[in-house]
Amino acid sequence: MNRVVLVTGASRGLGASIAKLFLENKDIVYVNYNHSKMEAENLCKNYELAIPLKCDVTREEEIKEMIAKIKEEQGHLDIIINNAGIAKDSLVEDKTKETFMSVLKTNLVGSFLVCKYGKKIMDKGCIINISSTNGIDTYYPYSLDYDASKAGLISLTHNLAVEYAPRIRVNAVAPGWINTSMNKELDGEFKKEECDKILLNRFAEPNEIAKVVFFLCSDDASYINGTVIRVDGGLK
Ligand code: NAD
Repeated sequence: MNRVVLVTGASRGLGASIAKLFLENKDIVYVNYNHSKMEAENLCKNYELAIPLKCDVTREEEIKEMIAKIKEEQGHLDIIINNAGIAKDSLVEDKTKETFMSVLKTNLVGSFLVCKYGKKIMDKGCIINISSTNGIDTYYPYSLDYDASKAGLISLTHNLAVEYAPRIRVNAVAPGWINTSMNKELDGEFKKEECDKILLNRFAEPNEIAKVVFFLCSDDASYINGTVIRVDGGLK
């Protein structure tokens, strides 16, 4: 039977790659976007079971409406992938409270609210939170807010796994560097230095992370719960 899947921030990058894997498996996928309507619609054009769905995950009312629409159309939800995220790197001394809060609000609070309301229409299934190695132990300057949000997502994962067991498995994936638009501004020299810290000596392609997310939502991962899977190419 087709599973009903919600992928947040799915118009591009990792989210689009995850959405495509589920769509190729003939799952019904809600391709959430905030501003990138055209990109989301273009992705959906290629798949019969893809449904673009606008929602700003920083807005609680929009999240409630998004979940209500899925309930109305499908009756239930099987899988949530909390992928939407932003980074606004700067030195701490240059970082404003507003910037700090906006990163927390999108990456952590948004995921919390999607889980809170999404769970109401889930009988069983799984939730994946896209964290980051920055949320575990990477010493990369400038991303205090981002790192705190990604560490928070790991805590959210552990707590929800307890509360939602045994019917819903909750796990986090912590990618290292990925080749997406989030890193498009990186200076070439800096990128080379970062690659030197990775045993595989390169950034991941989005699909290499997406496949792990897809696996964690499969029956083959039926005993994986409440944990964080690093996918970082051997980042030192
Ligand atoms: P990206 O910028 O291409 O994608 C982020 C997506 O989130 C975009 O589609 C964007 O529109 C969406 N988004 C942002 N704010 C939103 C909001 N308020 N409501 C709905 N959607 C919103 O970057 P990406 O690399 O594909 O990032 C995907 C996830 O992977 C993020 O959570 C990111 O933190 C995480 N991640 C990325 C890397 C990396 O190196 N790129 C590493 C580790 C983790």
